[in-house]
Amino acid sequence: MEALAVNGGTPVKTTPFGTGKRFGLEEARQLLEALEQNTLFYHFGTKVKRFLSDFNEIYGIKYSVAASSGTAALHVAMGAAGVTVGDEVITSPITDQGTLIGILYQNAIPVFADLEPHTYNMDPRSIEARITPKTKAIVVVHLAGNPCDMDPIMNIARKHNLKVIEDCAQAYLTRYKGKLVGTIGDYGCFSTNDFKHISTGDGGIVTVNSGEESDYETTHAFADKNYRRFGTTLQRDLHVVAPNYRMTELQGAVGIAQLKKLEWICSQRRSYGDRISEGLTGLPGVIPPIVEPDNECTYWFYMFRLDEDLLTCSRDAFCEALTAEGIPNRAGYIPDVCYMQPLFQNKQAYHGSHFPFELSEATYERGLCPNAEQILETAVQIPLNEFYSDGDVEDIIRAVRKVAGFYLKG
Ligand SMILES: *Cc1c(COP(=O)(O)O)cnc(C)c1O
Repeated sequence: MEALAVNGGTPVKTTPFGTGKRFGLEEARQLLEALEQNTLFYHFGTKVKRFLSDFNEIYGIKYSVAASSGTAALHVAMGAAGVTVGDEVITSPITDQGTLIGILYQNAIPVFADLEPHTYNMDPRSIEARITPKTKAIVVVHLAGNPCDMDPIMNIARKHNLKVIEDCAQAYLTRYKGKLVGTIGDYGCFSTNDFKHISTGDGGIVTVNSGEESDYETTHAFADKNYRRFGTTLQRDLHVVAPNYRMTELQGAVGIAQLKKLEWICSQRRSYGDRISEGLTGLPGVIPPIVEPDNECTYWFYMFRLDEDLLTCSRDAFCEALTAEGIPNRAGYIPDVCYMQPLFQNKQAYHGSHFPFELSEATYERGLCPNAEQILETAVQIPLNEFYSDGDVEDIIRAVRKVAGFYLKG
């Protein structure tokens, strides 16, 4: 058996990973045009409007709204969905905290559903079990670009009259049974922060899937202090509070150029992620993520699980050995499930107050979502990038196979 690099052997990866430039002259030209407009305000300029109309065309939808971040997009969707004081919103315990912030800003209470062990996405049965008379909405998170099981989730939502918001921050051009995620629920939320498939520095998009003009106008206004700017009219009547999450023309300009690269970025990531799963299939001790046969994953990252019963090493030792082989990786994703954060443990979102938690019976104890907890204890995350070469991907597979083979029991 080949000696592991961590024990002084030769590392698998001897060449640097492929890299590339995300931004080029296309973005620069758009930015210059934006500046030449002599305004950077979305309502007077053309760039944010064009960015959204290009996005709508790609997604085959009528309406979307720009926002200043993915977190902002999610808050806007909460506002548009009518989520308000004391409502419960069911979501995933493995996500970016940006999923939770808008819920709490609406003074609603996050309720966590457990996940399927191998897609790392919300289990529809657990969602249904967490519904109470206070439940208003479900925020599904298509983790790492793998689609949630939307058919049963939409059926549950219709049965209980709940809104569905899709967190697509990690899921561009992800398909569920042929349909693009972000177009299935009531609203879909995307992030263009600098770490996502495409970047505008920061930014976000909310899709309005009812296709109704009044729904679009409510959503649009919620991202703009409830100013209602449609055509040449402007209404400033303030009935309920709404933030200012406007996108500027500079972000819109960069976004126009970035969208042209989206298909290539996603197809690269999709083929690399699927290839790694294929290369790891049947490897004892390693459990690749499941992408259901009708679905397409666009891998914001690649995450597999270890079967520690079959291995002589801990997950952390596995990660260390993989690093020594020249493959960057991370133990798990977030350090712990979201509900173990002090905010939930102390039920304190706002200094000196337990509001809005006191309006709900929701609890946040260890063991609440056992599958989610086990996923984070046994997962290994490998970053993926569209600029990697086929050789890089084969090196990742060889390194995981080498480490798993070395530590296999018996
Ligand atoms: C990145 C991300 C967000 C937040 O997006 P920002 O643009 O950083 O605010 C929300 N949810 C998920 C799942 C994310 O990955």
